[in-house]
Amino acid sequence: MIEGEWHRTRLTKIPAPGQVITMLCGATGTAVFELSDERRRREIHRQCERCDVIYRRERGIPLRQDRIGHT
Ligand SMILES: [Zn+2]
Repeated sequence: MIEGEWHRTRLTKIPAPGQVITMLCGATGTAVFELSDERRRREIHRQCERCDVIYRRERGIPLRQDRIGHT
């Protein structure tokens, strides 16, 4: 997580907290992790849209078009 946004990485293993990693969108930052329970409970963090698009495109997952233009 960087500055309140969740990014996706190509890492296959969990990096050590404090390790500098490169995200799919090209951003670099220090790895910060929370327990998955914590993460599920408070969905206050924004998913990085660029990381999300790249991640989904690579896996053939449709984009979340339904979220655009609706409230
Ligand atoms: Zn990103």
